Amino acid sequence: MKLILIFSALFGAALCLETFVGSIFPSLQLDFWLNPSTPALPVDVRIPAHSLQAVKVFLESHGIKYSILIEDLQVVLDREKQDIIASQQLERSSSTFNYGTYHSLASIYQELENLASEYGNVVTKIQIGESYEKRPLYVLKVCTGRGNRPAIWLDAGIHSREWVTQASAMWIARKVTLPVIDFILSRVRLYFKVPCTCVCSACSVNSLLPAPKIASDYGNDPSVTSLLNNLDIFLLPVANPDGYEFTHTTNRMWRKTRSKNSGSLCIGVDPNRNWDAGFGGPGASSNPCSDSYRGPSANSEVEVKSIVNFIKNHGNVVAFLTLHSYSQLLMYPYGYKCTPPADNAELNTIGKAAANSIQSLYGTTYTVGSICTTIYQASGGSIDWSYDYGIKYSFAFELRDTGRYGFLLPASQIIPTAEETWLGLKTIMEYVRDNPY
Ligand SMILES: [Zn+2]
Repeated sequence: MKLILIFSALFGAALCLETFVGSIFPSLQLDFWLNPSTPALPVDVRIPAHSLQAVKVFLESHGIKYSILIEDLQVVLDREKQDIIASQQLERSSSTFNYGTYHSLASIYQELENLASEYGNVVTKIQIGESYEKRPLYVLKVCTGRGNRPAIWLDAGIHSREWVTQASAMWIARKVTLPVIDFILSRVRLYFKVPCTCVCSACSVNSLLPAPKIASDYGNDPSVTSLLNNLDIFLLPVANPDGYEFTHTTNRMWRKTRSKNSGSLCIGVDPNRNWDAGFGGPGASSNPCSDSYRGPSANSEVEVKSIVNFIKNHGNVVAFLTLHSYSQLLMYPYGYKCTPPADNAELNTIGKAAANSIQSLYGTTYTVGSICTTIYQASGGSIDWSYDYGIKYSFAFELRDTGRYGFLLPASQIIPTAEETWLGLKTIMEYVRDNPY
């Protein structure tokens, strides 16, 4: 990537820029990091060096005010790459997974394997399908109970360039695993003095152990154990592994899947426009070269279809949560239409409570609302599908930041982002636990 500039401009101005670019000069190859949405939100655009002059002339001749966020994207990309290499060396010498850095797909998959083999009685690695390029789609199942209990679905990285989401999901996987392990080990030691060898589906903490004095005598995060005594969590940390691999090897800014489009040289489908919810409606492109290309049909992407199949087969998923970046938003349905969902008031209240939890840690502020009212109408999105399928508690997070670094959030912000996001997720999960439907 050559010299690149990210600029931020106001809504109205950017709308005409988008028209200008899309219809008149597609050769400018602008990459909209944030599309025009509401007047309250900026529009961020990555501009290849060869287009810089044309865009500047356009902006200035139309009196459009803008600011430069990143003068030379290559500098930021180089720094990110150096960070990864340095932490890989450190990891190799210490044989531990560093949750505060970005990882290759292979390294993430290795850590999923480690978690599952270390904590086999509560953590199971399940393959729910494989990607277009035949990479496995791994879900971590965290459970302490018997049978098909109510479950929470959480995925990350369906848009591959949103790296802080996959990284946060890994931190969260560790976070939900450890207190449960502490809990089980302390119980086993105190009451049984035998190792717990049961497998996830066949064992229950409550049935194995004396009535636990929840929240009083174990772990440093009893709320996690309390959650897992009632719910299972299914976590898909890399929902778009082909795209993620491509962001590491070839193009850091890749968002879509890597499937071939018949009749076009352009690759990939936007997997968050591909769900069977208002498919083909506004806010999704029919152009295979677009970054928001919806695909030839709903569920055409095997990554999407695999999640749909898994959730349908499970039959008892009560919350559907998905992590994106960036903009610091917490959104609920609908995106494909602008009429409020039947549970609008409740979802808004839960969303605001979660946003307060997020803010309580480092002061990070989130905006809460439906997709359509918060950003723009967008069809074929995952939480619209899950909501219409009957999963009432459906939320999409847009994590840090608000555009200072955008998709290139420095690794030093991974753990703070994951920590605050976890507080928001936990607020939602506790509400789900306490309000079955
Ligand atoms: Zn996204």
